[in-house]
Amino acid sequence: MSELPADLRNDEVIRSLASAQATTWIRSTPTEAALPDLADVMDAAAARFDRFAPWFAETFPDTAALPAELAEAFPEAAAGGLIESPLARAASAQERLDGLFGVSLPGQLWLKRDDCLPVSGSIKARGGFHEVLEFAEATAAGHGLDAHDPATYSSGRFREIAADHRIVVGSTGNLGLSIGILSARLGFAASVHMSADAREWKKTMLRDHGVDVIEHAGDFVEAVEAGRASADAAENTHFVDDEDSVSLFAGYSVAALRLRRQIEAAGIRVDADNQLAVYLPCGIGGGPGGVTFGLRRVFGDHVRCIFVEPSQAPAMFLGVHTGRHSDIAVQDIGVSGATTADGLAVARPSRFIGPTIGPLISGFASVPDEVIAAGVGVLHESEGIDVEPSATAGLSIPWRLGTESPWPKVSTHLVWLTGGAMVPVDEQTAYVAAGTANLERIAGPASAVFTD
Ligand SMILES: *Cc1c(COP(=O)(O)O)cnc(C)c1O
Repeated sequence: MSELPADLRNDEVIRSLASAQATTWIRSTPTEAALPDLADVMDAAAARFDRFAPWFAETFPDTAALPAELAEAFPEAAAGGLIESPLARAASAQERLDGLFGVSLPGQLWLKRDDCLPVSGSIKARGGFHEVLEFAEATAAGHGLDAHDPATYSSGRFREIAADHRIVVGSTGNLGLSIGILSARLGFAASVHMSADAREWKKTMLRDHGVDVIEHAGDFVEAVEAGRASADAAENTHFVDDEDSVSLFAGYSVAALRLRRQIEAAGIRVDADNQLAVYLPCGIGGGPGGVTFGLRRVFGDHVRCIFVEPSQAPAMFLGVHTGRHSDIAVQDIGVSGATTADGLAVARPSRFIGPTIGPLISGFASVPDEVIAAGVGVLHESEGIDVEPSATAGLSIPWRLGTESPWPKVSTHLVWLTGGAMVPVDEQTAYVAAGTANLERIAGPASAVFTD
């Protein structure tokens, strides 16, 4: 442990993170935290998605009909164009995990299926799409077009204007996919700066959409820096800043308004005696941060949000626990930042999320890559659901918290599955094979659990 900064050397949570073992930190304090002043941007984002629904329905045939699983919760969206995912009970996975852990989980396991969000197949369809739509509206309005009329975005005049504008982003993969695909469909030029850990197929898919892909040998931070630098100097160029974006955040937060409707439609009670725990895979923190803000706004103290990261990349965990946020990186405590969960390969957290949303987060957990990989196998075997590894980060946490639950009134455990639908079949087959071969690894080794 001699490599730890002197002032962190005696912190047992940091020592556990530095050893890269599974670590869980339960916070007792944040329940009374006040909401930051972001309700307006959340409502504006919800309205923006509503305005664009006719454009989505027309542009992406996959969204033209409302999926049957969403019909009850969203009757007004029958005309299509809703970017939303199902909420699904996972009784078989719960039974399988009860068996693997030798512990019977009190309450019910549910899954939020953002792995099958339309068009880009990951939670990035929430934040990434929103920022592109917001830029499209600003561009249309700036050129005297009717920004609130969905027909504007299919017009020749808008496409002419859009072709003269560029959207730039740095990404480990999924953010690039969501931004690139939507930008290209609106007629914008798009550049995606990708880190070394980005999957090859994501680059190929983007190039097939006409997006410029710039590959970097370094990590995510380097890709973001390069994107920012290229956008700084350029005219008519919008940089999507995953380290600091309110627009991404606002798009993610809308998920909570949708989830409330789905929870009601499913007949799930959420109140003081029937609390909701939500397990969110975390990279830079924007996705889970936006969702957490929205959920705390909608459900108040009756929801507990737990951020889950790979044990080699616990960036948000470290930033919030030390209070240093983006001023500390995981390498500062001697872990690598490298993980097979490519969507979560982030070494330094968002500048915005920790300081703003940190007090609303009820717990953090880190899990080794082998636990994440095994999660793919568990979901495949028990539910017939295939997701990318990042998406399963939270799956084991309800059981890892142990039988002495810190929140005895939680009756619904919601594991957010964050990505998967776009993964090519051969890659998915390899993930499933790796996961099912070592299925039992999901249950071990035990997590070190800390409470404050
Ligand atoms: C991006 C991503 C996350 C986490 O979102 P952040 O905003 O990076 O914290 C989780 N899962 C998947 C599959 C992702 O692509």
